[in-house]
Amino acid sequence: MYDIAVVGGGLSGLSSAIQLAKAGLNVVLLEKKAYPFHRVCGEYISLETLPFFKTKLDFNPFDHGAVMINQLTISSPKGSTIKLPLDLGGFGISRFHLDFLLKKIAQESGVTIFDKTNVLNIEQKNSHFEIKTNRQGILKSTMAIGAFGKRSNLDRSLKRSSFYQRSPYIGVKHHIRIADFMLENEIALHNFQDGYCGISRVEKGIFCLCYLSHRKNLKQAGNIPTLEKSVLQKNPFLKTIFNEAEFVWEKPLVINEISFEKKTLKENGVWLSGDSAGMITPLCGNGMAMAIHSSYLISNAILDIFQHNKTETIAFQEYEKQWQKHFSTRLKIGRNIQKMFGNPFLTEILVRSLKHLPPVANQLIKLTHGQDFLEKK
Ligand SMILES: Cc1cc2nc3c(=O)[nH]c(=O)nc-3n(C[C@H](O)[C@H](O)[C@H](O)COP(=O)(O)OP(=O)(O)OC[C@H]3O[C@@H](n4cnc5c(N)ncnc54)[C@H](O)[C@@H]3O)c2cc1C
Repeated sequence: MYDIAVVGGGLSGLSSAIQLAKAGLNVVLLEKKAYPFHRVCGEYISLETLPFFKTKLDFNPFDHGAVMINQLTISSPKGSTIKLPLDLGGFGISRFHLDFLLKKIAQESGVTIFDKTNVLNIEQKNSHFEIKTNRQGILKSTMAIGAFGKRSNLDRSLKRSSFYQRSPYIGVKHHIRIADFMLENEIALHNFQDGYCGISRVEKGIFCLCYLSHRKNLKQAGNIPTLEKSVLQKNPFLKTIFNEAEFVWEKPLVINEISFEKKTLKENGVWLSGDSAGMITPLCGNGMAMAIHSSYLISNAILDIFQHNKTETIAFQEYEKQWQKHFSTRLKIGRNIQKMFGNPFLTEILVRSLKHLPPVANQLIKLTHGQDFLEKK
């Protein structure tokens, strides 16, 4: 019998597991893939996470090759550009590297980790949860955290309505090497018809190139290489990058059905965090920070139950209140900004206008980002 079963070993699950184990709880984490592994993600993390990483997880990404990023370039499909300093900024590190480092910290903190373990079902009994897996049989825990990401078989088995809402977006990621094209500390957001592509540096001189496109682009193109040639490369910056870069992998990673619709924070007694609770549009570059911040909120609320005798109902209400306070406006603004990007006409107008109104651009960036959340509870 574990105190807590964390289902999903991405940033949200790993960070929750580490905090709860460091506080003395008996934690098991279940991840369906085998560490270390790549995932579709732009790999730019807002600096709002750094104090948390250092203080709560004893982890400094800059000791492990992370690169500071503090310049933003946005281009319209036709190639108009705007360059902005990022007030808060962020850092680049691959998820392959970052998640694996956190997995090691989780193990050192006493978390029992089973990777290559797919959770098939989570069932609430009277006094505990039964977690049915493909490799470890049935595990039991007092509480369960769902940190299984944007879309999982568990959304279906928990009968979440969000699972049945179709989404038109696909995500594609490459790792590339490209000389002298971008500044070391820059993140670029290059727009194309019905999509956008983020490029920024991660460790070891590699750049992450990751884009979100409407599914209809892929349907019309027939395959990813044709999509990249016929749609993305209409943007002159993307054309140069695709023609000059060395692609590290033979094929990119591709995912589909990326939904930004509202979700619930609890299903059948399972508390949800990270993308399982709600996903911000990737162009905001804030999903990882939100996943990590939500792990902090959920861990604090759970520790109130185990260590301060709060009832589950009161602790969950506090979690929900904090979650809404910190994230609901960001998610809404992210959805609205995304509507403008991808439309070539609107993007052109937006980029040209923001060029003359840098304070407005800075305000938009601020609204989709948070602050050091250890200071603000
Ligand atoms: C195209 C794209 C680009 C992005 N770019 C950025 C960016 O640059 N910056 C940023 O901050 N955010 C970005 N994001 C968002 C960011 O990737 C997510 O918000 C973040 O990864 C969420 O973390 P998480 O822990 O909630 O979920 P995840 O990191 O997705 O982890 C969930 C884990 O649960 C596991 N899992 C699922 N089902 C089961 C099961 N049944 N049993 C066991 N395990 C299971 C999965 O294998 C996965 O490892 C981007 C997203 C997309 C789609």
